[in-house]
Amino acid sequence: MVDSFGRNINYLRISVTDRCNLRCRYCMPEEGVQNLGHGKILSLEDLARLARVAAQVGISKIRLTGGEPLVRKSITRLVECLADIDGIDDIAMTTNGLLFPALAQDLKDAGLKRINISLDTLNDERFAYITRRGGLSSVRQAIFKAMELGMDPVKINVVAIRGFNDDEIGDFARLAYDHPLHIRFIEFMPVGDLLFWEPQRMMNSDEIRMVLQNDYELTPQKAIEGNGPARYYKISGGAGSIGFISPMSHQFCSECNRIRLTADGKLRGCLYEKQEVDLKEALEREASDEELRELFWRAIKSKPARHNMDSGWGQQNLRKMYQIGG
Ligand code: SAM
Ligand code: SF4
Repeated sequence: MVDSFGRNINYLRISVTDRCNLRCRYCMPEEGVQNLGHGKILSLEDLARLARVAAQVGISKIRLTGGEPLVRKSITRLVECLADIDGIDDIAMTTNGLLFPALAQDLKDAGLKRINISLDTLNDERFAYITRRGGLSSVRQAIFKAMELGMDPVKINVVAIRGFNDDEIGDFARLAYDHPLHIRFIEFMPVGDLLFWEPQRMMNSDEIRMVLQNDYELTPQKAIEGNGPARYYKISGGAGSIGFISPMSHQFCSECNRIRLTADGKLRGCLYEKQEVDLKEALEREASDEELRELFWRAIKSKPARHNMDSGWGQQNLRKMYQIGG
């Protein structure tokens, strides 16, 4: 379906839970996280029904996210239900990877095509610091497991944070040189745990590319399979690629094809937009599929032309990143 600004909206990101087994400093507070109770989050049946309705309004691609999607019970069953829906041709997931090695084969068999794994450091101590937990070895296993199962392309999301991992940019590039992995550097955004975000911690994509060009020859290449706004570069002689996701320095809103469903059943046109359409309330009053379709249309039609995070709205965001799905 085409929105008010001529963009074809065909991609739905579903946050299946607001719970997480990590506490990344930029995303979630350490203490005082009030998780949604069972009655507040969408059930598996609700999620499958909403995905079916979404397919009827033109959604063909779904990404599962969270919180951490793999802590949601029956996640494999959900993937299976989504894979059965006519019109849905791509099911992917963004995960911290910790629980992936044990679930990988079942998820693949259920119909999960691809995963993006979030990983900001290759150093154990730093990993424990940034996640306030630990488990880097499981994340490494997850990356190699996904490659072993042929869940191509395997993408790694790295939030670039000055003073934390800027000295590891080359190490990440080396991973993409040695393995068929797609390393994507994401600009640090003022959403999430704003106590950790500071303007000076943000590194923009051009700056990162300059650092990489000291050691690698990068040439622009076409987008790697997926639905996101990353710009990709081939590393000369390497097996994988480097991508940049630049919401702060190179706004990609004019090409945005996504809407988001939060774990508590609210549809959002934009990560940074306050406006939400309440699907959970509609499900509770037993709305028909026709009514649900209209609510999807309303969310799509009211999708803003662009985010205004750079003009300070991110500071007032009532929802944290783990509550929206990143
Ligand atoms: N738990 C899963 C994970 O970490 O991949 C999925 C949810 S997480 C909120 C999705 C993505 O958002 C992760 O790649 C994470 O690094 C990213 N993210 C969270 N807060 C961010 C911020 N302030 N700026 C940029 N990316 C952020
Ligand atoms: Fe959890 Fe992902 Fe947020 Fe880290 S970024 S706290 S893994 S939801």
